[in-house]
Amino acid sequence: MKLLTAIRNVFFPVIGMLWLSVGPAPARPGAEGTLRCIVIDAGHGGKDPGAVGNGQQEKAINLGVALKLGRMIEQQLPGVKVVYTRRDDRFIPLADRSKIASQAGGDLFVSIHTNSSTSSSASGTETYVMGEDKGNRNLSVVMRENAVISLEADYTSRYEGYDPNSSESLILFSLMQYAYQSQSLSLAELIQGQYASYAQRGNKGVKQAGFLVLWRTPMPSVLTEVGFISNPAEAKYLGSAAGQEKIAASIFRAVKEYKRRTDSRTLAKGPARDAGVETPARKPAVPAAADTKKSGQTAPVGTKNAARTVFRIQVKSSLSKIPLTRSNFGDYASQVQERRIDGRYKYYCGSSFSYQEALLLQRKVRRTFPDAFMVAFRDERPVPLAEALEQ
Ligand SMILES: [Zn+2]
Repeated sequence: MKLLTAIRNVFFPVIGMLWLSVGPAPARPGAEGTLRCIVIDAGHGGKDPGAVGNGQQEKAINLGVALKLGRMIEQQLPGVKVVYTRRDDRFIPLADRSKIASQAGGDLFVSIHTNSSTSSSASGTETYVMGEDKGNRNLSVVMRENAVISLEADYTSRYEGYDPNSSESLILFSLMQYAYQSQSLSLAELIQGQYASYAQRGNKGVKQAGFLVLWRTPMPSVLTEVGFISNPAEAKYLGSAAGQEKIAASIFRAVKEYKRRTDSRTLAKGPARDAGVETPARKPAVPAAADTKKSGQTAPVGTKNAARTVFRIQVKSSLSKIPLTRSNFGDYASQVQERRIDGRYKYYCGSSFSYQEALLLQRKVRRTFPDAFMVAFRDERPVPLAEALEQ
């Protein structure tokens, strides 16, 4: 425990700083805001069967669903290129999967997996986006899906010290995906909705956790668990062509709707208009259509963003100036922003257009400043948080 605390103390301030530098994703000319390439990742393969149970192997279910999904996209969404991380039964290291995705210039990454539990009655579908796993509630799933790297000979160097047996090290790897979190959440919600309404599968909801396969995919990304191989009825369904077809069709319908929203939003914006004015702050619980242009960007410091809402974490407030020293602000000293508002000096860490991201930052900042809280700004003036979230 002592060691874990030490790790946290060393790394969380670092995360805070890295977070600030995540910034916007590099835009690909001509492809911004439209879905042109989807990367489909069938989990496991070759010497790694994934979960096994009831006469089924996860790797085969995942591949069956992946190929069916790809075929539906190729046939029904002709403008969208499909790239697979594998099309047959072979072993692909996790890091190579995200490399394939980024080299293909993917606009969306869907990793397909099958769940397992020690209880044969566990059932239902769930879809993950990269994020902080509150209370490590999803740790068993994460550990199982990440454990495959121990089959890779050089995993300690490849994953920069990631230890599959340590929950602490998971959090370090979620930084790149923060920039795409709202789009990823949007797709995840659509997929879960289709599982429930179209395929009539149990819906365990959208969750956040630290999956290595999503770590370095520079695009909106989800990992979906299509059911439990440990449940006899679900294993039978998932092992059947009809079951896989239904699951694939559910994901396809979600992708199609995601594309419709993404494309129409891009068209509506047009090249010359200011997207910032049209893009309200997102409510955390109900992600709306994917915001393809500016979602998740780190808000520039001191820039006036028209009516756009920016979230910052306030750490101190005083009638007189507080020197920006390490003794006052610890590891945040170099990045704290000072504002004079209503006669008081106020000090903020970080800034984001995304409420979700600001929540994550707030949690980290509170490890140093337990009383820190989030403030919303519009036109560089504080506005009540409830009002900002209502937009
Ligand atoms: Zn898996």
